[in-house]
Parts: sequence; structure tokens; C-alpha cells
Amino acid sequence: MNNKKSVVVIGAGISGLATAYWLNKEGYDIKILEANKEAGGAMQTIFEDGFLVDFGPNSGLETTPLIRQLVDEVGLSNEMVYANDKSNKRYILRDGKLHALPISPPAFIKTKLFSAKAKFRIMAEPFIGKSDDGYYQSMAQFVKRRLGEEFLDYAIDPFVSGVFAGDPYKLSVKSAFPKLYRLEEVYGGLVKGLIKGAKERKKRAEQSKQSAKMFSFINGMQSFPKAIANKLNDKIFYESRVQSVERNSDGWVVKFEKNGIINELNTDIILSTIPVYVASKIFSKIDSNFDKHSSAIYYPPVMVLYVGFRKKDVLRELDGFGFLIPSKERKTFLGAIWSSTIFPNRCNTENAAFTIFIGGARSPYLFDLEREKLINKVLVEFKEIMDISSDPIFLKERMWYKAIPQYNIGYVEHENYFDKFEKENPGIFISGNFRGGISVGDCVKNSEKTLKEIQNLE
Ligand SMILES: Cc1cc2nc3c(=O)[nH]c(=O)nc-3n(C[C@H](O)[C@H](O)[C@H](O)COP(=O)(O)OP(=O)(O)OC[C@H]3O[C@@H](n4cnc5c(N)ncnc54)[C@H](O)[C@@H]3O)c2cc1C
Repeated sequence: MNNKKSVVVIGAGISGLATAYWLNKEGYDIKILEANKEAGGAMQTIFEDGFLVDFGPNSGLETTPLIRQLVDEVGLSNEMVYANDKSNKRYILRDGKLHALPISPPAFIKTKLFSAKAKFRIMAEPFIGKSDDGYYQSMAQFVKRRLGEEFLDYAIDPFVSGVFAGDPYKLSVKSAFPKLYRLEEVYGGLVKGLIKGAKERKKRAEQSKQSAKMFSFINGMQSFPKAIANKLNDKIFYESRVQSVERNSDGWVVKFEKNGIINELNTDIILSTIPVYVASKIFSKIDSNFDKHSSAIYYPPVMVLYVGFRKKDVLRELDGFGFLIPSKERKTFLGAIWSSTIFPNRCNTENAAFTIFIGGARSPYLFDLEREKLINKVLVEFKEIMDISSDPIFLKERMWYKAIPQYNIGYVEHENYFDKFEKENPGIFISGNFRGGISVGDCVKNSEKTLKEIQNLE
């Protein structure tokens, strides 16, 4: 136990905490430095006036058994909740009306979301050959070729807004949706791949994103990082902002600022899980190419607007997850989650809670507008779609100036660079949601991968 190495983990979001928890269990001497007053990073929950507000992720998908294991080990099993069955239904706005995304062949035939021509084009997917474009393909290019333009416009464009707040013409299919890319690369097509891929996942005990259960916690998503942090209590230093990292004869020196004072920690290993634009300030001093790659990674701004209404004023049936808006519909916001339908305890039963997303890579310029005007414009559109006659009884906003890293075309080069950087600087590990996936599930999976890499260093 005692000869295990020391590790400084930078950042107490889910990526840092999950790896820190497992490293601690393996007997490593860990210390976690977190700039904020509390754990969670992008996972931020508040409870106010009877509404439970998640400003970051509203839920996660249980794509790996590691999530449940971690939840159980940190004593949070009783608080874990799964989404209401109703939330399997997802809506897309077309011509001002909400259409359920078809999830069965009869629903696909009946839906008015796609024209008859588009449906035939989608059904031709198994007969479309592989492209030679390799990994320099955008999501839009890939989908247009395999499934046609209308599917891109009315299914994929809103979908990538929902996941990445991204632009399908810029996102790299290989880096942002590696499983989709693999279906074509390995199996020659999506339908063929889905059938064979399901068998492979079964062997690995993994869940596909389509079939994985959606989870949260009675007290919101931040409960998860907070519960992990509680287990590591004496090892976390809050309000401790890392400023630089230097090599010394024994390993590394981490300098951080706390209460206006610069402190130092000597360590064998550094695990960085902070956003890449912050990591750049720290690691560019070791290798100037770090900045070249990190500054090319775009984090668009996103505003999260959480609103509560009296349920009786919402005339539309709340029978789904929420809705997404294709760019072609030209609305001011990206979509909305029907938060209290998915997890009923988000407010009392007389009210309904919604989370609206604004901006993203599609419309970052919106934030040039005066804040109040923007919010009012969004509310007018939202209320019309939802058939709501009154004003909200509760409203909270949170601006994420740099929300989600975009895995755009050319991302492979950044991924390769970070691999090279780690090899050239043994003892430094670069992790976080800009490598290996942005979802909570992917962050947990990657945290385990990082643990193994750290263990292999010895
Ligand atoms: C608005 C929004 C909605 C989302 N919705 C979903 C969703 O529904 N489902 C889903 O699966 N995912 C969603 N995500 C993505 C997911 O929440 C994140 O990708 C994930 O939580 C990132 O975790 P992380 O630990 O990698 O990074 P972060 O959570 O960003 O953690 C990094 C930590 O590092 C700290 N830090 C920064 N600089 C320093 C420094 N110099 N020194 C010390 N500490 C520092 C930060 O304070 C922070 O705590 C959403 C993200 C956002 C922003």
C-alpha cells in the first residue's frame, strides 16, 4: 500500500472524482484540487421555491455497469431514480407542430415527421456503400449520404443540438459519434451494424445509448459527484485553483492558488480533468503545441432557462421527454426538456417544470441580444408550441459561456496530440469530457480507462 504513488487530480467534476475514487481504493495517495467551493463541475443542482433545478445534465444514461457500482459504493442507491416510461417519447418540431419521433416500424410508416420520399430514402440505407472519405467527414455528410437530406434536417440536426448543442456540418462523425462511424467502417452500414453490434455489446455487458436506462437522483444530478466527494472528503481541497505544473527531479510540482496564497504540491502523477482551454494555460508551458490544439477546440455558449408553470395552464399533454427543434424551423431556442414528466419530483404535482436550451454552435450570436429580450422571445415561442396561456411562476437561468467541447472535423489530430503529449510527459494524464465522449456515461467509462493507464505506469 505505502509504496503506491502520489496523484494530484485537478478538477472535481465527474471525470476527476470517479478516477480519484478508484485510485484511492487501490491505495494511491491522492489529493484533489478543485477551483470551486463544491464538487460537480458541469453537474449543478439547486433547490428553490419548490423547484429542483439541474443547470447542467438533467439525467445520464446508464451505458455502463460502472455507474451503478459507483452509485452503490458511495451509498446513493436509495436516491437513484430512473426516468418515467413516458419519457421514451421524444418530439421534434416540424411546421410549428410537435411530432413524436417514430420508434417502431408502424410508427415510422404513419409519421408525418418525414415525407414519403424521405421514408423510401431512409429504407434504402442497407444498400448504400461505404464512403472513402474516412474520418474527415462531418456528421451531416455521413447522414446525408446514408439516410438522405430530410433525415438529416428533421432527425439528426435536432439530435446533435440535443447532445452537443452542436452543428452537424462541423461535428466529425468519427470523433463525435464513433459508434455510428464504426457501424459503417466495420459492418458496411447502419442497419447491418446495429444487428451485429447488439450481439457484441451483450458479450461486453454494455448497453447501447438507445436501450440504456435514463437515471438521475431524487435530489438532482449533483448528488452523484457530491456523494463521491463525501467519500474522499479529507483528500479534496476546494477553492484551490491550479496555476502551473513543473517538472522536478522526483516528478512534478503543482502550484495552486488558495485564498490568495500560492501553494505547492509534489507528486508522482498528475491527472488533469479540467476543460481543455484551462488545461492549455497550465500545460502549454511544458509543450507549446498544447495551446495550438486546445485553442482549436470550440466550446459554444449555451443558456439554460428553467421555467415552472401551473400545470393547469399547460394545455398540451406532457407525455414525453420533451422536444427538439430542427434549424430549418428557425426558432430562437434549441429545444426543451419536460423535466417534471421525466422525474416527477422536480416540483409539486400542481406545477410543471421545463428546461429550455438556447444558443449552442447553431446560434451563438443570440447572446449579443439583451438578455431580457432574448428570454422573452424564447418564452413567447415556447408557450405557443406548448399551448401555455400564462406567465411562468418560476424562472431561473444559467449561462454557460463555454458549454460543451465540439468534436469537430479534424478532432482526430487533437486526440492524437493528447496521446503523444502523455507519452512524452510520463506521469501526466489528460482527461475530461473533451476526450472520449461528453456524456456522463462516457466520462465514467473514460475515468476507468484512465485508472488502468495510471496503474500501467508502474
Ligand atoms: C448545459 C449542459 C447540459 C448537459 N446535459 C447532459 C445530459 O443531459 N446528459 C449527459 O450525459 N451529459 C450532459 N452534459 C455533459 C456532461 O455534464 C459533462 O460532459 C460532464 O459532466 C463533464 O464532466 P468533467 O468532470 O469531465 O468536467 P467538468 O464537470 O467541467 O469538471 C471540471 C472541474 O474542474 C474544475 N476546474 C476548472 N479549472 C480548474 C483549475 N484551474 N484548478 C482546479 N480545478 C479547476 C471545475 O471547477 C470543475 O469542477 C451537459 C453539459 C452541460 C454544460
